[in-house]
Amino acid sequence: MHFQITFMNMLTMLMEENSKRIKIEEFVEMMPDACEKQFPKKCNCCCRYFDTFQDFLKYTIIPVHSKDHSLQLIDLENLHDVIAFRNCSCGTTMTVQCAVDKPQKKELMHAISEEARERGVEPEDVAQLLRDKVIEKAMKR
Ligand SMILES: [Zn+2]
Repeated sequence: MHFQITFMNMLTMLMEENSKRIKIEEFVEMMPDACEKQFPKKCNCCCRYFDTFQDFLKYTIIPVHSKDHSLQLIDLENLHDVIAFRNCSCGTTMTVQCAVDKPQKKELMHAISEEARERGVEPEDVAQLLRDKVIEKAMKR
């Protein structure tokens, strides 16, 4: 009987642990849609139109000088955002927000910092990994 209670407690604890935050993998699923919502987008410099997120990924590149930091993580009290930088073929840097609404932005920042803490890496490292997975997923559509 005692064993059973302990086992149930453990199970409950495990379930709570899992539901505490949205997993990085789930953001990989959600993010292409969040990005897609921001299209069509236009380059302010050369006026090129990007109809879809996939178009955008195809015809823009990660800025060379910031390959490892092409995502900006903003985590302040009332402001949570993950912004991706891409360069248009004319050289102009454009941005895409990785989450659309406010609760989702907050969840995303939270998931990134928790994942980083668990793995013992920098939040930026988790963000870049997430970036690469999202791009891979979006391009397969
Ligand atoms: Zn351009």
